[in-house]
Amino acid sequence: RSKQRGRHGYTLFNQELRRDQADQLALEAELRHALTNDYELVPYYQAIVDSQTGRLAGFETLVRWHHPQRGMIPPSVFMPMAEESGLILKLDRYMIERACAQLAAWYAEGQLSNEVCLHINLSSTHFHDRTLLDWLLPLLRQYGLPAGTLHLEVTESALIDVPDLAISVMKQLKEEGVCLALDDFGTGYSALSYLHRFQFDVLKIDQSFVREVHCQEESAAIVRAILALAAALGLEVVAEGVETPAQVQALRELGCTRLQGYYFARPVPAASLEWERLNGIVPAATALSA
Ligand code: C2E
Ligand code: MG
Ligand code: MG
Ligand code: MG
Repeated sequence: RSKQRGRHGYTLFNQELRRDQADQLALEAELRHALTNDYELVPYYQAIVDSQTGRLAGFETLVRWHHPQRGMIPPSVFMPMAEESGLILKLDRYMIERACAQLAAWYAEGQLSNEVCLHINLSSTHFHDRTLLDWLLPLLRQYGLPAGTLHLEVTESALIDVPDLAISVMKQLKEEGVCLALDDFGTGYSALSYLHRFQFDVLKIDQSFVREVHCQEESAAIVRAILALAAALGLEVVAEGVETPAQVQALRELGCTRLQGYYFARPVPAASLEWERLNGIVPAATALSA
């Protein structure tokens, strides 16, 4: 359908989706169907880089829906529906299973060192009961993944509804060696004390603060404050949405140790990863200061 609209069909399609409830229902049924096959929902991988050495530090898994009729649908279009319908629980589980299998395959091929971690986005809905533990922990054992390789990324919003339950589920995950990352940090509303209570290991600085970190004092001040807070609490920090050498330079100078963004690599399917480039992803310090 979007094909008939030509070059701008994609945009029109996105706008229409938000308006059209019938289409939402159709999309929901289509997502339900997509979850029964193994070719429509595809994990894409985006590199996370060590800002000092330039070496690959990890990957974030991001879902892409290759819809057989509608073409590529980005998460921003179907995530709200997936959350509302509860299909997100199945979707996340599917993505984790695919990503863990992929990670185990990379280890088997000798493609990765044990220090490279895998970040997976998880809806905070998973923390509203204990079901996550029932399938995730056996999965990790099944693949024999080294403790600490799996980093679960969650956003703070929905954790606040059920703090005690969320904390107890997170505690058990941590006992198994799973790391927890707080995604989009700085965009939510939670009290800073939650950082500590939820036992996060990693903060991901939202891209809205990264965009002008090199040219606007306010953004730099926010990033500096987040880094100081993280250092005081013993948390790792990843800056998201890094697109230019100037941003890389500024973030390095501020002392941010992990960077992620189009400047280094876009999210791509596993088969399209450029391992040679990733293993020396920032070629030389001179390239950054240029
Ligand atoms: P997120 O986890 O904060 O992921 C970062 C988003 O920024 C991704 O968008 C990524 O493609 C994009 N990005 C990365 N580098 C750059 C850059 O340099 N510049 C810009 N402008 N953007 C960059 P994407 O893939 O569209 O995903 C959007 C959101 O959807 C994610 O935000 C995450 O919250 C959610 N999501 C994606 N995959 C999954 C999944 O499998 N499960 C769950 N629960 N949520 C997911
Ligand atoms: Mg994320
Ligand atoms: Mg984010
Ligand atoms: Mg986000």
